[in-house]
Amino acid sequence: MDPRLYASLHHTSASAPSLRASEPYHMMAPPVGIDDPGNVKVVVRCRAFLQRERDKGAQCLIRMDPATQKTILLAPTTDLDENANLRRTLEDKEFTFDKSFWSHDEADPHYAHQEDVYRSFAEEFLDHNFDGYHTCIFAYGQTGSGKSYTMMGTPDQPGLIPRTCVELFERIHQEPAPNTNYHVHVSYFEVYNEHVRDLLQPKTNPPMYLKIRESQTEGVYVQGLTEAEVKSYADVERLMRLGDMSRTVASTKMNDTSSRSHAVFTIRLKQIQHSLLSDQTIERTARMRLVDLAGSERAKSTEATGQRLKEGGQINKSLTTLGRVIAALADPRRHGKGRKPRDIVPYRDSVLTWLLKDSLGGNSKTAMVACIAPSDYEETLSTLRYADQAKRIRTRASVNE
Ligand code: ADP
Repeated sequence: MDPRLYASLHHTSASAPSLRASEPYHMMAPPVGIDDPGNVKVVVRCRAFLQRERDKGAQCLIRMDPATQKTILLAPTTDLDENANLRRTLEDKEFTFDKSFWSHDEADPHYAHQEDVYRSFAEEFLDHNFDGYHTCIFAYGQTGSGKSYTMMGTPDQPGLIPRTCVELFERIHQEPAPNTNYHVHVSYFEVYNEHVRDLLQPKTNPPMYLKIRESQTEGVYVQGLTEAEVKSYADVERLMRLGDMSRTVASTKMNDTSSRSHAVFTIRLKQIQHSLLSDQTIERTARMRLVDLAGSERAKSTEATGQRLKEGGQINKSLTTLGRVIAALADPRRHGKGRKPRDIVPYRDSVLTWLLKDSLGGNSKTAMVACIAPSDYEETLSTLRYADQAKRIRTRASVNE
């Protein structure tokens, strides 16, 4: 191991670190400080018809090939818009992702259940956290496309967040690493109208907004955000319920605040390993971000007025900036001679992208779940294009000690 890398560890002991003493810890993680460049993993999931779509006799425009992970968007055969004007000719489009999850028809042998989605890509992210890497999984798609179902799920069909938390505590309690103490903290906030609100604090009137800060050691963080220590999945579940209640919910799903705000659930896993050979300890902290983004259709909402216009505009700002950030990061010229990525990527243009800066272009292993509805050609095409571009982003994750 390079002694310079070793020197960057957070030793709680005052004694000078010796290389020999560090050796037993190799079993815990990959070599310290080694960057692990990798692309943002992109998966797509197509949900079932909702009752109202079935009632209208909606046409399923999605085909998925489990062998090649291709997703095909078919041009609708009925091509009249609301004003009964003939639309321009639409084309079939084909995309390839890391995974294409078919959750449309339960009778299909390739149907992807909640458990399948978790096991086939999200579980690996927990391995990364135990190895000391930051991770981020974010769900993108229009309102009603299945983002909350995928991330949170229902009590009967839990999604990625509860499954990740259950397994986190199973691993801690059933397979702890030798001489290791674990500390888990969670935080939960929403970004709404470019303001950050702590969901683990009771709602106030007027609402209390938190500030975003950036420091050399912490990176970008929310100042004063509640970080609650949790000892079991039951603790997490209680806090998630509290947080969900704190999100303002209006009467209909299409209009409720939860579809217009970005919800960011963060788990911080600290592992403290004590040496049997000396009085040294090694601390490793990994952050896992699980993000349910606002509905992407708001990004092009043009007819709203008043408060809705403001909300639409602000979400527009965060999601369109996210699009610009993804485009900048996916641009191969970014790595060209003389270019400084920091100057080009517009992270600071919106609260969301500033907060996700590390997860998008920095020190994190990141995945995007693009959620699509089966019968909406325009919105689905826009989501698939977004996802296709995200595939090209490369991050450089390194172990956080
Ligand atoms: P979003 O969070 O994108 O607005 P939701 O997750 O609320 O969308 O999904 C809209 C509706 O579709 C909900 O009633 C949800 O239960 C249902 N749904 C979404 N995805 C699936 C799926 N894979 N299987 C079954 N029902 C789903």
